[in-house]
Amino acid sequence: MSTEKTKKQSYKFKAEVSQLLNILTHSLYSHRDVFIRELISNAVDALDKIRFKEIKSEEISHSDLDLEINITLDKDARTFTITDTGIGMSKEELIENIGTIARSGTADFLKAMVAGGEDSVNLIGRFGVGFYSVFMAAEKVELTTRGSGVDAPVYTWISDGEGRFTINEGADDNVRGTKIVAYLREDAEDFADEFRVKNAIKKYSNFVPFPINVNNERVNTISAIWREPKSSVTDEQYNEFFKFIAHLPDDPVARLHFSADVPLQFHSLLYVPKTNMEIMGFGREDDGIQLFVRRVMIDSNSKDILPQYLRFVRGVLESDDLPLNISRETLQENPHLMKIKNIIVSKLLSQLAELANTQPDAYKELWQQHGRIIKEGYNDYANKDKVAELFRFDSSKPDADGLVGLSEYVERMHEKQEGIFFLSGASREALINHPTMELFKSKGIEVLFCYDPIDEFVLPGLFEFKGKKILSADQADISKLDEIKSEKSENDENKPEIDKKAASDLAHRMKNILGDKVEDVKISERLVDSPAVLVSKDSAMSSQMEKIMHMVNKDTKIASKVLEINPAHTLILDMEKLYQNDAVDPRLDILVESLYASVMLLDGTIEDPHAMAAAIQSALSQSAAMMSDKSE
Ligand code: ADP
Repeated sequence: MSTEKTKKQSYKFKAEVSQLLNILTHSLYSHRDVFIRELISNAVDALDKIRFKEIKSEEISHSDLDLEINITLDKDARTFTITDTGIGMSKEELIENIGTIARSGTADFLKAMVAGGEDSVNLIGRFGVGFYSVFMAAEKVELTTRGSGVDAPVYTWISDGEGRFTINEGADDNVRGTKIVAYLREDAEDFADEFRVKNAIKKYSNFVPFPINVNNERVNTISAIWREPKSSVTDEQYNEFFKFIAHLPDDPVARLHFSADVPLQFHSLLYVPKTNMEIMGFGREDDGIQLFVRRVMIDSNSKDILPQYLRFVRGVLESDDLPLNISRETLQENPHLMKIKNIIVSKLLSQLAELANTQPDAYKELWQQHGRIIKEGYNDYANKDKVAELFRFDSSKPDADGLVGLSEYVERMHEKQEGIFFLSGASREALINHPTMELFKSKGIEVLFCYDPIDEFVLPGLFEFKGKKILSADQADISKLDEIKSEKSENDENKPEIDKKAASDLAHRMKNILGDKVEDVKISERLVDSPAVLVSKDSAMSSQMEKIMHMVNKDTKIASKVLEINPAHTLILDMEKLYQNDAVDPRLDILVESLYASVMLLDGTIEDPHAMAAAIQSALSQSAAMMSDKSE
């Protein structure tokens, strides 16, 4: 072997990695012990992988080796050495995993560092670059690794974190797995101190499912926290376990530790993280749940357990009812797993609903982070009511604060109210003052406000909630609201007498003037203070939905709408007079075009703002000309 020692090659780190190392080595001084957690986490992964191979009866070298992690500390030599008997790495893997090819997470981690400052080093493991954290404490790192194949060669990777690394072949007697020697910086010598290191392990890695020995003494005590009875696990242990598996720095906002024995046996421990990395802009949540069968990790990232709309949940599921040698493909169809999934999802949804009832402030925080993703669950038909129970919206209620639940809305509904009304638009201001709201306001009927494009699918997609139909306020058949008395009844008494014939003559003339721009002009039942509003034809898409479709595909024509006019409004009454005096009075054309332009602005569906501005300006010029004629 020794002759092969000459095979030494030198490589350069990819630019982003160099940049990352530079920050880690030269500017981070807090949270340095994160590196212990990261190296242990990598060793655990490597051990899990070897155990999985063993289960599948694949040939591995030294199959009699104990699966364990050994840490040796040498104060005099100022070294921290961690050894695992895991899967090890080939030369290609070495280069790819901790070498030249920048892992996709490097750039994201750097971004997070810039945004979040020194504390973000806690997040390093999330971005798949946790190994490099060792350079916060070490001035030189020597990693020796041997793959699990029977004749796998040994490689040693050495770097001082300053831009380059070398790889030697055949330079160590490592039997299987990986050994990392961290030559500690002078100011990091406490990581060679037994007491210091043991404490860090007890805090961060106590529940690691393999023995961790420090200078030959076993340190971790709890093996699989999710198999323990709830009463024997402290909050702190739960929280540290979460941080370990989720690579997140904050305590979770909710957790569900749930075990069952009959008819199905399983243990589950699930957490809702405080922050939603996807909403924060770090790409789609992709971590899944760790799946264990009889203490063996079958999948470190199972996407088959929770539905997509709960993809921010982290945790562990273990069941002894599943076959050990199951492949990931057949796992999806396993009837046991399907039943377990149903139970867990249902439990989790109930637990979240309970949190909303008992700890509204915590739920508010949870909703603000994860609500956008939970809403995607509107089409989980099996759990529809439970998911809908979790949704929160803003509403016309003054103190709604974006947190009105559907149950709460239903409780407040007017007894004669047909269903749950919602209206979509850009903002609270736009909706509160929208003409469509006038009737609802006058009758004191609450309307849910939706600002998120997905709501256009979510609310109509539910169809109903607790037997109440879900209706878009701008499409609803408002004649059904007749039975609900207006709250401002004295206003009703002061209403001017409406000449229906005059109003419908005017409507007819207006349709002639506007031509194809509108589907029809009708007399409105819904307006109180505004002269006119555009509404969708019955059963057509809601306005907001049309806007979305138009954004997605510019070829989707925005369907022409019905212009409703308020026969009690002075502008309309004056226009009626003009019309009665002279049915083809050109001033009427100007008024109608301008009125149409103003309601289009409110509706927000202007396809061609240039044409619209030109029409308004032309109307203004004509009326200015008429006014100046008059004044002459
Ligand atoms: P992550 O573990 O999140 O992928 P790291 O930067 O910590 O990111 O590690 C990069 C990769 O290097 C790991 O995915 C793994 O493939 C490999 N690796 C690191 N440490 C070990 C180890 N002790 N044994 C085997 N492979 C390892």
